[in-house]
Order: sequence, then C-alpha cells, then structure tokens
Amino acid sequence: MKITIFNDDQLGIIKNDRVIDVSQVANWDSNDTTASFHYLVEYFETLKPSIEQETQTGESYSLAEVDLRLPVPTTGKIWAAPVNYKKHQEEMNKQFNNAPRTVEDLALFLKSPDSLSGPSDPIRLPFQNRRTDHEAELGYVVGKAAKNVAAADAKDYIFGYFALLDISIRGNEERTWRKSFDTFTPIGPWIVTADEIEDPNDLSIKLWVNDELRQDGNTKHLIYDCYKCFEVACDHMTLQPGDVIATGTPEGVGPIESGDVVRIEVEQVGGFSVPVEGSE
Ligand code: MN
Repeated sequence: MKITIFNDDQLGIIKNDRVIDVSQVANWDSNDTTASFHYLVEYFETLKPSIEQETQTGESYSLAEVDLRLPVPTTGKIWAAPVNYKKHQEEMNKQFNNAPRTVEDLALFLKSPDSLSGPSDPIRLPFQNRRTDHEAELGYVVGKAAKNVAAADAKDYIFGYFALLDISIRGNEERTWRKSFDTFTPIGPWIVTADEIEDPNDLSIKLWVNDELRQDGNTKHLIYDCYKCFEVACDHMTLQPGDVIATGTPEGVGPIESGDVVRIEVEQVGGFSVPVEGSE
C-alpha cells in the first residue's frame, strides 16, 4: 500500500491517481498524527483488511488536487549511512581530498529528527556562503522495536520505504551538524509498505536540479545494503517504531541554490519535487 498523510492531516491510501481517506477505519486522529501513526504502524497487519475494504468505498480525491504532507509525522531518530556507494566515495575524494573512508569505517551518524520535512515543503538554506548539496537516497521507516537484529531478518522490521533527500552543508564540521538543519531531510511522496518492494537493494534512484539530471544510481551498488544498515543501526542499541534510516547517496551530488527545484525519483517508490529557498 501507498500510505499518505494529506490535506488536513487525514490518512490516505493512494490507488492509481486517487487518494482514499481511510482515517476512520484506522482510528486516525488528525489532531494527534504522532500517536495515530504509531498506532497504525503497530497494528497495521490487524488494520490492513479494513483499510483495504475502505479503499473500495471510502471518500476519494484526485491525487493531483491533494496536498501530500510529511508521511512520517514525527520520528525519534534518523540514522544515516555516510559514504555508502563506492563512486560517491571517489567523487568526494576528488572534490574535497577527504580521507578515503566509507560506511565500513565510519558506521552511521544521526540527523536531527526535526530536520524531517514533507514532499512539497521547501528546502531552506540556512547560510548563503556555505556550499549546500543534494543527496538522493532511499529511506525507510522502522515498523517494530529492534535490537541486535541481523541483516537477514531486517526485512520483517521495516514498515515501508520512501524517497529521501539528505541535504548537506559541505565542510569540516560534524556530519550531524552539517545535515541537521530544519528542512534538511525531505521525505516522500508517501510510504510504500515493505510488502510491495520485492528487493529494496535493486532500485534506481534519480535526481534532477531544474530538469538537469544530476544523480542516476541504483541501490544495488550500496556498500551496506538496506538490511545491513538496519543491522548496524540496532547493533547493541534499540531502534523504535517510527525511526527513520537514510541509506546513503550514489555519485553525482552537487550544490543547490535559492530558486532551484530539486526532483527525486526512486523506482517502485515514487518521487517528488521541492523548491529551494534562502532563509528569512
Ligand atoms: Mn547522505
């Protein structure tokens, strides 16, 4: 299923070019999307038949006419994989003379949960004089609490996937600081539940800036694949339902500026476009 939060924070399912409001059958409270989302994730298997049923008869809207909102209303934490594609490592070394390290040496880093933003919210650049880059990634949201879960079992713990932008200021500061500004983690356009993604480790990822194709990668080139990222994120520590994982970016990263439009597309998942703005 493709799950969205839309318009006045209703819960919707996307079918073809329609959005069906399933708020009622999912006990969804638009005034408390955080609690409602956790309930949905926890009881999804139980709720699924009545949600399916509601998509046949429930009130529906044209997809083109609704506002798609941030599909994970709040998150406890965002774990992200640094330098998780070989060719991205090569381009970083070429441009910045960074030490040639990958996710295997660096492990994961945290982004602020408040950096999440929706699939039509603008990216706001905090500084005019700092290079700020796009990174197109596959992201996912955790469905069940997990600790010491091996990669081989990770599939059962992932609720669903989305396209994710890991917006990054370049420089020598900690990754956590450079990547945690408000609006620096747009996700969307919705959540595709894990049962609909046969192999998350073989999906094309593309990104355009103003219609110029900048990134054209595939998750099959991940160094730590989606499941290995999960294993590392819960190795001797706990992942909670609603936590987000950013799996890393392929080559082709580059700067964005106020006035640009950034578009990301992930195969089988979908895509979105967001404008870039300067800070007020
Ligand atoms: Mn990244």
